[in-house]
Order: sequence, then structure tokens, then C-alpha cells
Amino acid sequence: MRTSNFFLTTLKEIPADAEVVSHQLMLRAGLIRQVASGVYNWLPLGHRVLSKVQQVVREEMNRAGAQEVLLPAVQPAELWRQSGRWDAYGPELLRFSDRHHRDFCFGPTHEEVITTLARAEIRSYRQLPMNLYQVQTKFRDEIRPRFGVMRSREFIMKDAYSFDRDPAGMAQSYQAMYDAYGRIFERLGLAAQAVEADSGSIGGNFSHEFHVLADSGEDAIAFCSECGYAANVEKVTIAPRSDRRPLPSQAMDEVATPNQHTISDLSDFLKISPEQTIKTLLVDGSDGTPVALILRGDHDLNAVKAEALDAVAKPLRFASAESIKQATGASAGSIGPVGLKIPMFVDHAAGELADFVCGANREDVHLTGVNWGRDLPEPESFDLRQAGEGDPCPNDPDRSISVRRGIEVGHVFQLGTKYSEALDAHFLDPEGRSQPFYMGCYGIGITRIVAAAIEQSHDDRGIIWPGPLAPFDVCIVPIGLKKSEKVAQAVDALYSDLQSAGFEVLLDDRDERPGVMFSEMDLIGIPHRIVVGERGLEKGNVEYRHRAETESTDYPLNELVATLKTLSSL
Ligand code: ATP
Ligand code: MG
Repeated sequence: MRTSNFFLTTLKEIPADAEVVSHQLMLRAGLIRQVASGVYNWLPLGHRVLSKVQQVVREEMNRAGAQEVLLPAVQPAELWRQSGRWDAYGPELLRFSDRHHRDFCFGPTHEEVITTLARAEIRSYRQLPMNLYQVQTKFRDEIRPRFGVMRSREFIMKDAYSFDRDPAGMAQSYQAMYDAYGRIFERLGLAAQAVEADSGSIGGNFSHEFHVLADSGEDAIAFCSECGYAANVEKVTIAPRSDRRPLPSQAMDEVATPNQHTISDLSDFLKISPEQTIKTLLVDGSDGTPVALILRGDHDLNAVKAEALDAVAKPLRFASAESIKQATGASAGSIGPVGLKIPMFVDHAAGELADFVCGANREDVHLTGVNWGRDLPEPESFDLRQAGEGDPCPNDPDRSISVRRGIEVGHVFQLGTKYSEALDAHFLDPEGRSQPFYMGCYGIGITRIVAAAIEQSHDDRGIIWPGPLAPFDVCIVPIGLKKSEKVAQAVDALYSDLQSAGFEVLLDDRDERPGVMFSEMDLIGIPHRIVVGERGLEKGNVEYRHRAETESTDYPLNELVATLKTLSSL
């Protein structure tokens, strides 16, 4: 490809509304352009990268025995009503109706459609196992689309669904996908880490996410460097500490705390650490009346853990201001466990405190020096909080976890019979009995991978593509193309030789200043750059530089194809 014929459209300025580096660079390099919030055009340069991702994903899915299908993007509401998700999915589901006033949605995922297909077409255990996948546009009306294609509303996903006759078969299909994902990310040059993930209402340890570690990641991942434990923090269970709580040393007292409604206001005002305070969160209970969740002031609630309590309504909902007032007599900033008449669930760390500070259930009044077992009953404690840096490793409480940010690029999941039962999808086993399919589902964020790769590999000049993702392998930058016949000839020959050798080449044949061409090629991140100029050619040389390096090296022009083959291991 010659730049004179290529739709290259770069930006010099950093776009003001792009917060993370991958979004900035995708706009600056002209990979994408926004059409609406969370909806993007992919321009030729970006589309080449996307195709590379899809190619590797397809090859590895096929290699793992999955077969490609293409399901409709538009799905009838009827299927979602059968699975119960028409109501459960909430506002992320884009719903609309056709001219006959029939309800539809734009598919955010395809369990309903694929399970209905299996119900109709897979009759016998002899047809199992079966794994079907597609590469397709999804739509999720995300509450906060951001970071460009990292969290967009329209995006491309590879989604696969496996069907097996029993749990053991499902576990095998799952393992095959887990292994294929490892190969996919490795081949794409992404350092992706598999971590245990929350499997929500299904229970058990049957889900892994694949994360690219980056500070801009929206997920927090817990690691134990000693035992290799890695999990989404949502999933990390925290055991109570074995050492005993300190004995009370203060008498309980009241303090006026006018307008101190947050933990940080309160701790500044009283000149105490937030770790010495308790916060009381009221959520809707499963019977409709509020339930109190009690945490140490500096800790955050883990919604999944809270939802695991029978007394708590699912999905988790915070109690309204009126119901807080009714249940406690005060508003949210002044409530606490002392004298509270509603069911209370105390997190382990809150239960381990002595002499703590909490709201008094009277407006603008707090209590200090409060102690369990003296000022209020000894609590039974629960695991309710989000794990954080320094919390105990679930495998050994004497070790502690560290927390890093991750971008979720893939997710594998054992579904069991959740969808086959809901949608009545059965097959006949060898004894002629009707059995529900054991299913798995496996997603990869094709468009998100492009952003994640840039987060992982860039510098202040632009993108540094891992070889397998690069839109072009090599760029040729001629110096004085229009002035020197010698340069023009050498460049033409090199361009065709490299292409014949299997390289994807971008030849910058515009009549631009060298500095402009260099900085544009750096911005778009082509791994191998060859500069051809008269001075070098006199010695039979061209100048080579890898995008990740700062120094160039001279190589003989007549050996360049072979040299590049070695350098790029093509
Ligand atoms: P997240 O927690 O990031 O919202 P999810 O758990 O909802 O992801 P899945 O339903 O497992 O995601 O979808 C499979 C994959 O699709 C994810 O691993 C991710 O790579 C990608 N993906 C999900 N939502 C988006 C989005 N809004 N924009 C881009 N990619 C997405
Ligand atoms: Mg999501």
C-alpha cells in the first residue's frame, strides 16, 4: 500500500475528550472516529488491525474444534421472555419494536438464540459435544460508555457456546476454550492473565476472566505472589482475623457532628482515622423492609457478597431516603448500629473494631468509644467487603494479596443447565431419556483487544504494535523520492520484493518532509521502518529501525529481505 492511495488521517493534537492513552492514540492515528456516544467508525488502518485479531481468534477457535455460525443481531423479545432476561437485563438491553408492534432487542449476547437453535436441531447425545461460535456486533446500552472502544455501546465480540451431555463433558469443553484463549492472547502478543472470576448466581468456581494488566483497567485484580493466586477482587473471600479484638478502653459518648455526613468529613472533623469509624448502609431486604450492612469506614461493600445473603433483595438496591428515615429516625449520614431495630449484617473487619465511632441515629450526632458486646450485642460477622491491597490471601491468611488494575478481554463460563432448562432445550441420552444440555459460554472482546494492546504497548510518540496486530509489518520512508531517480528505483524494487516475501508494506510516497513522515509512522506504530536515502544508497545501505527502539542500524539493501525475515521471524 502506498500512502498516496491510503486513507491515512492523523491528528496532531491530543483530543480533549479522550481520557486514556489508547483512546487518544486510536483517534490520533486515525483508527477510529466517533459517530455517537459509544458508537464508532473503524477506518482502514483500524480495520486492518481488527481483521488481524479476528483472524487469529478464528484460527484458534477452529483449531479447538468450534464451528463458526452467524446468528442474527436482532432478536425477538419472546426468547428473552422465556429465559426471564427480558425483565432481568435492565436498561442495558436496547429494545425496539417492528412495524407490527412486535418487541425486539439488539443482541448484547446470544445465549437465548443459540439455546433455541440447539433445542430445535440437536436431538441426540451422538451429536455432542458441540461448540458453535460467531464474530459479531453486539449492542449494550452501557450506563457510562468511555475510553473509546474499551467500553463502547456497539462492539464486536467473539462468542462461543458449548453443548455437552453432562458436567464432565462441560468441564472438558471449558478447558479446551480456556486453553484456546491462552493461545489466542499469546499469538496476539498480549500479556493476558487468567483470573478466577465471580460466577454470580450460578455458584461454584466455574468462571475465569482474561485480563490485560494496565492502570486504566476498570477491574481490580488480586494476586498472591507466593502461591500464584489471581482473581477478580469481586471474587476474593476474606476470612475473619484470628487475633482477638482489643478490649474497650473508652466509655461511649455522644458528639455533635453538624453537617458531617461522609466518612471523610467525619474523620477530618473528629481528627480520627476512617479505620476507627463504622459505616452503616441500608439496603432493601428480600421482604421489602430495609436491612443494615455494617462495614469499617474505609471499606467498600462487595455487592456480590451482599447479594449472597438471603435477607438481601437481588439485585442489590440501596434503601430510599424515606425508608432510611423511617427505619432509623435519621438520614444516611447519621445512622449507626447502636439501638437499630432492623436486621444487621456486620462485616468481619467492622466486628473486629473496639472504641469505634458511628452514627447515633439522630440527625448530626455520632457516638464515640462504642464497643461490641458492651454497648450493643456481640455480632455474628460476615464477609461483605471488597478485598483490597494487603488483605489475606484466600489460600493462606498469613500471606497478603496485592491489587492491580486489569482490562477484561475475555471471559469463559460454565453455565450448567441454566439456559437449557429455562428454554426447554433437551437431547436424548443413550437410554432414550430426555436431558438438558450442559452449556458453556465464552466471550472475547475483539474491539476492546485493540485498545488493550495499545494500553500495553505505546510510548510518547505513539502506538507500538505487537507484530501480529500491526496494520502493516514494514514501512518504507524514502528521503527525496521526487528528487532522486536512484531513491525512486530502490524504493520501488524494495516495495515489491518485500511484498513478494509476504510482508505487508506501507510505502510513504508522499512528498512530505522526512520529519513529518517519521513522526506519522511512529504514531501509527508500524514495527519495522526502513529509510531509503541517496547517501546510504551510495554505500549500498538502507537504514533500519524497530519501532520500539531509538537507534537505527544500516543494513545492505541487497540483503534486506533476508534481514527483515530474521528480525520479524516471518
Ligand atoms: P464488563 O465487566 O467489562 O462489562 P462483561 O462481563 O459484561 O464485561 P461479557 O458479557 O463476559 O462481558 O462479554 C465478553 C467480552 O466482551 C468481555 O470480556 C469484553 O472483552 C467484551 N465487552 C463487554 N462489554 C463491552 C463493551 N461495553 N465494550 C467493549 N467490549 C466489551
Ligand atoms: Mg458488561
